[in-house]
Amino acid sequence: MSCCDQADLMPYDQAIAELLSVAKPITESEIVPVAGALGRVLAEDAVSSLDVPPADNSAMDGYALRYSDLTNAGLTTQGRVVLPISQRIAAGVVPEALNPGTVARIFTGSEIPEGADTVIMQEQCRALNGTDGEGKENGQTVELPVDINPGDNIRLKGLDITAGSVILNRGHKLLPQDLGLLASIGLAEVKVYRRLKVAILSTGDEIVEPGQACPAGHIYNSNRYTLAGLIDAMGMERVDMGIVPDDPEATEAVLRQAAELADCIITTGGVSVGEEDHVKACVEKLGELQLWRLAIKPGKPLAFGQVLDKPFFGLPGNPAAVFVTFAMVARPYLLRFQGCENGLLPMTLTVQANFSRNRPGKRQEYLRARLDISERGVMSASLHTNQSSGALSAASWSNGFAVLPIDQLIENGDSVKFIPYSELFA
Ligand code: AMP
Ligand code: MG
Repeated sequence: MSCCDQADLMPYDQAIAELLSVAKPITESEIVPVAGALGRVLAEDAVSSLDVPPADNSAMDGYALRYSDLTNAGLTTQGRVVLPISQRIAAGVVPEALNPGTVARIFTGSEIPEGADTVIMQEQCRALNGTDGEGKENGQTVELPVDINPGDNIRLKGLDITAGSVILNRGHKLLPQDLGLLASIGLAEVKVYRRLKVAILSTGDEIVEPGQACPAGHIYNSNRYTLAGLIDAMGMERVDMGIVPDDPEATEAVLRQAAELADCIITTGGVSVGEEDHVKACVEKLGELQLWRLAIKPGKPLAFGQVLDKPFFGLPGNPAAVFVTFAMVARPYLLRFQGCENGLLPMTLTVQANFSRNRPGKRQEYLRARLDISERGVMSASLHTNQSSGALSAASWSNGFAVLPIDQLIENGDSVKFIPYSELFA
């Protein structure tokens, strides 16, 4: 079969379904401080033991009262009501029950006194006896408007969180705001899955490390650095195995070592069908390997298997293919492995194409594209001119993938799917 026969290519969705069906979430967990838990995945539901807020409190600086006292009182000539101030409730103070027919001076976040059901904001009130209303109101009076509603400006107990409720589920990857939410129920520590250890290995006799001389016939190792960034961005622990030459013994030795040190192994290069591609044979010797011909571009040759019972991804060697296959294929697997229950696949936008495609493709393409938003709010994607799988400039220039389905022709202005990198690497 030629390389372009569609029949033996595996559709993207099938590859993802297979990977997710075999991905077993890690079970080992650890307790970490909430402040250090960003990007970690909860290993148990976070359940609140309390109501938040713990008591009714004021949403405004103002005066707390019984609404009925307002409607029962006589009106001034201006159609307002004057009531005495019986207490002052600063933040952190436990109030006394509100005397009937009086108001309490109250501040944002202060607890509502028993008996009060409404707060009037201070801007609508006038403290009498020439004070500014700050600090000296006891025994004084305040003039209040009557065109207000019962319950105004009160944040009810448990409005945000009720005692006994699950605030975040097991498998949730913690975002900055989640740390605040956990703290709001009094948690100082949380139970999260331990970080996955992901071994990365670059293969190829032609590869040299940056910082060293690059003799004729060689190229610098870029894949190692792309993968390092990708794994760091996922909040996982990286086990860097460096470069292995195109040699079966060396490849086997380093794969054995990687399987000992890490939970998962990712290699780049060496999984094509060239005679110097030794990764495939070594993995078969140490475990098992499926060599997929994925219906995606770039990234057709992709190996998945086990090395000494540790999951193994053999990504292509070409740098842009590494970027795409990691983001679109390895990433969802790794997230599930790390214990994530949702957000495995990126959210996709539908935007206007600033380009056309006249020949139908046999593989789903992930073109490195830049999303622009016009002043009128129209989102459109433009392509980098060099979409070679060997070229990385486009990946840095772009801010996402324009996804072109198999067999679809695109005309300028047509709708296309766009996956922002922020969905993948945030
Ligand atoms: P391979 O799959 O090993 O035949 O590699 C395919 C292409 O990717 C070749 O042009 C390699 O030189 C290139 N390549 C492989 N590994 C790397 C790497 N770590 N950094 C940059 N380019 C690479
Ligand atoms: Mg190679």
